[in-house]
Amino acid sequence: MEQSEKTKNLQAMWRNKAISDTYEPGSTFKLVTASAALEEKIAEVDKEGEFCCTGSIEVAGVRIKCWRHYRPHGSESLRQGLMNSCNPVFIGLGQKLGVHKYYEYLEKFGFLRRTGVDLPGEAGSIFLKEEKVGPVELRNNSIWSKV
Ligand SMILES: [Zn+2]
Repeated sequence: MEQSEKTKNLQAMWRNKAISDTYEPGSTFKLVTASAALEEKIAEVDKEGEFCCTGSIEVAGVRIKCWRHYRPHGSESLRQGLMNSCNPVFIGLGQKLGVHKYYEYLEKFGFLRRTGVDLPGEAGSIFLKEEKVGPVELRNNSIWSKV
């Protein structure tokens, strides 16, 4: 086995996936959107009828469905929106926050940089640079889904 192949195999064998790989968080990221919205006081936890799921929401000319578009959630509070994992609620909150404010929270939560953990090979952020984020990317971040 040549040295370069040995090195490659050793690196593969000792690769720490928890440190070196990245994962898309999926709907769990709606909690981050909710946290930012609560902190900015653009939403309340239990305000009845604060949101209304009609089964979809339009972003940049594209209609994004709620996962339960066939029987929309209707009137719901933020808590209910979280319980229902309702896409329109969190896309709407992302739109209200706007890209700059949303990115301020991503920075505060530490999602835009490495943690600095003392282990080799830590992956970097998987978020786009703020200046490259438009309404579609903001929508994706708000619910962490590339729908
Ligand atoms: Zn819904």
